[in-house]
Formats: sequence, C-alpha cells, structure tokens
Amino acid sequence: MKKQCRLASGLVSEQFPRVSDIVIRMTYYQKAAIPILMVRNVNFWPSRHAYFKMDCMIKGCSDGGFDLTSVISNMIKIHKKSEKGKLLCNGTIDALASDHASIAYQITIRYNKT
Ligand SMILES: [Zn+2]
Repeated sequence: MKKQCRLASGLVSEQFPRVSDIVIRMTYYQKAAIPILMVRNVNFWPSRHAYFKMDCMIKGCSDGGFDLTSVISNMIKIHKKSEKGKLLCNGTIDALASDHASIAYQITIRYNKT
C-alpha cells in the first residue's frame, strides 16, 4: 500500500526538475515524560521518489504521519531554500489523544544552477 503511494508519486527529477537535493531534518516528539523521541535526517535527490509523507513513530498509530508534500512543493514554487515548521500527527490510536505525536522540521532545498 505504502509502496504503491511512493511509486505513484514519481521521481524528484520528474516532479521537480530544478531541484538538486532536499534535506529534511526532523525532530520527533511524543506526548510522554521524555518528549523527544528521535532526530532524523532524510535526504532526497533527483533519482528518488518524490514521496514526502513521513511515518508516525508511535506504535499502533493508524493513518498517521506527517505529510510535507505541500510544504515542499510550495517552497519549490517560489524557489525558497529553507523552511521551518511543526506538524501534528493526525492519525488515531484508541488509547491516545490526537496530539500524541508531532514533529519539528527544517527543510533545505538546493536547486540546479541552470
Ligand atoms: Zn501518530
């Protein structure tokens, strides 16, 4: 299922031919005594699929995750190089509230010279 989404999204080089690479730095937070779950860097380059939906790291969360697609496509539209923000997971877990997880992200995009 998820693999199909990724394939359907096309390659970065097809979707965003002006982009040479994208780095997404994410800090995952959970609603818990130790709020920082992990820090992760994800790199995209032209031969990778343009799939910018990150999984929620909380066990049992369904349909959750953090979709950076619109943030990234808007950045590319205006040729923006970096952006910071926060997203809440909108997935649901029976036992947990909807604000069970969030990320702080920092996106850096490099563009081709031509
Ligand atoms: Zn979640």
